Amino acid sequence: MVNVTLIGTAGAVPLPERALSSCVLTLDGRSILFDCGEGTQTAAKKHDVNLMRTDVIALTHYHGDHIFGIPGLLQSLNLGERQRPIYIVGPVREGGTIEQELAPVLALTGRLNFDVIPMGIPDKGLAISDLFPDWSPLARLEPFKTDHKVTSCGYSFLLKRRGKFLPGNASALGIPRQLWHFLQEGGDVCFTDDNGMTRTASPSDVMGPARKGIKIAFSGDTRVCDSLRRGASGADLFICDATYGSDENEQTALEYCHMTFSQAAHTASRAKVKRLWLTHFSQRMRDPSEFLEFAQNAFPEAECGFDGKTLDIDFEN
Ligand SMILES: [Zn+2]
Ligand SMILES: [Zn+2]
Repeated sequence: MVNVTLIGTAGAVPLPERALSSCVLTLDGRSILFDCGEGTQTAAKKHDVNLMRTDVIALTHYHGDHIFGIPGLLQSLNLGERQRPIYIVGPVREGGTIEQELAPVLALTGRLNFDVIPMGIPDKGLAISDLFPDWSPLARLEPFKTDHKVTSCGYSFLLKRRGKFLPGNASALGIPRQLWHFLQEGGDVCFTDDNGMTRTASPSDVMGPARKGIKIAFSGDTRVCDSLRRGASGADLFICDATYGSDENEQTALEYCHMTFSQAAHTASRAKVKRLWLTHFSQRMRDPSEFLEFAQNAFPEAECGFDGKTLDIDFEN
């Protein structure tokens, strides 16, 4: 089961009840934090989110409202006697490095007793278990291009699901029962059959076709673009920039590289996502729900995000 919790849903300027952008995803007790605006720590505490579990901070871009919370968070992790390293991944502009992007933030952080490892997010994405072996090998983080004023990306988090184990196949092949779990976990096995012959078996010999996994997509800050729709395609939950409520702000959204409620909803509809949460609200919009019908006209399942909004997502069936 994957839990997703919005920590902050404000765009650019925080309000007393609305912290700057941040969202946390937790699987098996470990977390990925998507963006870390100023005030993320306080907002997380308010909503019972334990940021000590964070293993990866995935940044969508380097605007202050998405990164100014990082130095304080790293210092708190240090005071919490963290030993485990933490990765900070993000997009890298052509000819640049993520170290350059993060230098101002990390300069404020000071000395830590654990490693902070900046890493440009590879285009093909990464298996979290390559960074931390105790993560499920089925969990992946994949970036997709977005269209903002600066180099930016959104992310899909994917939790794949293996096919059903077929015990009849395993028995017919003579695979000893004590080796079955290796195959179920994705490894090959070597065994001696009844005739004393050495044989190997692969998961494909004993597992049915892969089943539908879980996908969660985060837009970060962006204008409407095709790569956003592709990145969100088929998501169980799509968390999308919806800085402006009314359709009247479409021109402003275009100019400032953000989206309106209606644009987010049209993208969700075209991407055939299951749920849409709107976020990154302009400070001028005190009550985003007043504008929700702009989104629901295009995508009836649209919901306004709010700080502390949370959802557990499990495999179907
Ligand atoms: Zn922003
Ligand atoms: Zn931005």
